[in-house]
Amino acid sequence: DVRVRFAPSPTGMFHVGGARTALFNWALAEQSGGRFVLRIEDTDATRNRPEWTEGIISALDWIGINGTNPVFEGPYFQSAFEPQHREAVAKLLADGKAYYCDCTRDDLVARTGSEHKGYDGFCRARGLTSGAVRFRTPDEGVTVVDDVIRGRVEFPNSAQEDFVIARTDGSPLYVIANAVDDITQNITHVVRGEEHLGNAAKQMLLWPALGARPPVWAHLPVIVNEQRKKLSKRRDKVALESYRDEGYLAEAMVNYLMLLGWGTGEDREIMPWSDMVPRFRLEDVNSASAFFDEKKLRAFNGEYIRALPLETFEERCLPYLDPAWDAELFSKVAVLAQTRVAVLSEIMQNVDFLFVDEPVFDQASWDKAMKANAPEVLEGYLERLETVSWDPESLKEALEDVGAALGGLKLSKTQAPVRVAVTGRTVGLPLFESIEVLGRERSRERLRSALE
Ligand code: GLU
Repeated sequence: DVRVRFAPSPTGMFHVGGARTALFNWALAEQSGGRFVLRIEDTDATRNRPEWTEGIISALDWIGINGTNPVFEGPYFQSAFEPQHREAVAKLLADGKAYYCDCTRDDLVARTGSEHKGYDGFCRARGLTSGAVRFRTPDEGVTVVDDVIRGRVEFPNSAQEDFVIARTDGSPLYVIANAVDDITQNITHVVRGEEHLGNAAKQMLLWPALGARPPVWAHLPVIVNEQRKKLSKRRDKVALESYRDEGYLAEAMVNYLMLLGWGTGEDREIMPWSDMVPRFRLEDVNSASAFFDEKKLRAFNGEYIRALPLETFEERCLPYLDPAWDAELFSKVAVLAQTRVAVLSEIMQNVDFLFVDEPVFDQASWDKAMKANAPEVLEGYLERLETVSWDPESLKEALEDVGAALGGLKLSKTQAPVRVAVTGRTVGLPLFESIEVLGRERSRERLRSALE
């Protein structure tokens, strides 16, 4: 049975790259009726914080990875298994597969004459009974990591030093804790980021030394930004939470993240989770780095927003609107807004004109729209709005008439000052529908005050 795991370290905000790794694992487990183990790798006490763990769990929950699905198992906490990690170290020592070492960095540099040489095996035969613990690696041959995505990756053993598996204080290192947990949790497929490929070379040695058959390995391509640099929390917006808070829909996010290194194999990229799951194959994951294209994500999100039932859209917008605002009034423009927002938080700037007493005033928009004929346009329209019949078509014709009377001004010229006067902005919802909803009195009042 397929047993995969997602093993984040709670050392910061949960990253979109982590979400991609989790989703690939989740898809594998779900399609095979297997299990997805969530293991929080919390052994770095200096960098862990409980709120990061909570953040991981709630972000995973948001994208549908949670215990309501029987595929889910855990969360387990790596720190709880420290006794097993220590036992494994002890076993390797007892079997002669590991040994104590008391060399300092300085000793090593003095012996090898270089800062960069790996460990020289000095303590291999010294029979020490304390110190750090090093794993005895083969001197010749190659260690092969057969990676589903990368193919056969060879690591010459001559370049693999006897690496440390426990510190002098006895605490096991990450590389062995990770292997021991995977072994005891019966993990069959290790699917994780490319940065762990070097660990896989070590773990290919550790697993058999601990009496276990190594798992299937799959190391996912790095995710890069527009400048082709690895996504980083310093440079890029990477926290899944910030996307959630801005008003990305989980479904859109999931869809987009699945395409970072994988493709649906069809022309259509917009595909619900339930259709992606049976199509997903690790073998089809590309080893080339994957570009995180925020514009494309936005476009996806816009599509998912447009596909929502109108009432759902309205509900999803509410957190981004002022709770004091009249929900019924919002209902009247929601349908217009649904086709225009790509991210829910943009709803505010599209509809605020309806709720405020006076539209926002922004000098730049004003200057842009209030060109030479603006006062005449506003005056003419103000007059027409007194009697015009109140529907978008008539409201539009009225403005066309005003333009015609001013020597043939096109709508493209006359709309701009009216839009800014009424909504405060140069872009927004369809103008005549907006005026219709705003109402005769309020619209005229805004034209009047723009003329002052
Ligand atoms: N805890 C590791 C990380 O956050 C994951 C290691 C693994 O998946 O094996 O990168």
